[in-house]
Amino acid sequence: EKIDPSFELDRSKIDLLREIGQGQFGNVHCANYKNDGITALVAVKKTNFEEDSEDLKQKFIEEAQIMCHFNHKHIVQLIGVCTKGWPILIVMEYCALGCIRDYLIQNAEALDIHHLLEYIYQLSSALKYLEEQNFVHRDIAARNLMLTNEHTVKLGDFGFGLSRQVKETDAYYVATTGKLPIKWMAPESINYRKFTSQSDVWMFAVCSWEILSCGVKPFQGVKNNDVILQIENGIRLECPKKCPLSLFKIMKQCWKYQAHLRPTAAQNHEQIGYLLDSFNQEDSA
Ligand code: ATP
Repeated sequence: EKIDPSFELDRSKIDLLREIGQGQFGNVHCANYKNDGITALVAVKKTNFEEDSEDLKQKFIEEAQIMCHFNHKHIVQLIGVCTKGWPILIVMEYCALGCIRDYLIQNAEALDIHHLLEYIYQLSSALKYLEEQNFVHRDIAARNLMLTNEHTVKLGDFGFGLSRQVKETDAYYVATTGKLPIKWMAPESINYRKFTSQSDVWMFAVCSWEILSCGVKPFQGVKNNDVILQIENGIRLECPKKCPLSLFKIMKQCWKYQAHLRPTAAQNHEQIGYLLDSFNQEDSA
């Protein structure tokens, strides 16, 4: 896996403006990118460690390697990289409204179900796309969703070994290290570190639950170690106040214990599309 050389950018065309976030190995800046006389606002992730750590360097570039394969309107677009010289820069589409969680918390009162369903529908389209690419994200959660504007969600964070392409020879990717988002994870991911498109579907429903709960995190007050016990006893997250039963039904399907009984990402996208249509028809009636 290499980054397509056409993604290499001339670093003199990038002016960092201000820091907007901090990640594990890189800080994110808002920046101007000047190209062909046009200046665009972009987000730039910049290494925050010493140049001699080859290991970290490789990990840092991995995120861009993954992102360069994707082109979808609800996935943060990679614009390019500066891998020659130091620091290494990853240049991405800028999500002006930042993380969706903060936005949901601040605007909880004003956001109606129609608006929230739009976000979920957009996320379902990103997951359908990843499923088609045989790509397992493994960290679908509201903390990894950003907004470019009030009506457009982007899935981000393909960083640091969480996301993995499933090779045709592997039945699934087995995770070995790292801190795991237990409260978002499917039971087979918790028990066997098994991650597949079906476990992404489970996580999609948890993430939808967070959106419908306007930024509340799942399983509040439950210890990580107790989550799997609850799931194995048939306990699931409850229907959020704003969530219509028709939508909750789909979410519960996504939380079937047995992965093969869950809908595919493509089926979710279709079903949620029908729901959104019926909402739109009610609105115009
Ligand atoms: P890591 O991937 O290192 O674990 P992280 O998941 O915490 O880090 P990063 O992807 O490094 O997050 O981003 C840190 C913060 O920077 C995000 O929480 C977000 O607020 C901001 N950010 C990241 N990418 C963008 C972007 N494309 N547009 C706008 N803001 C962004």
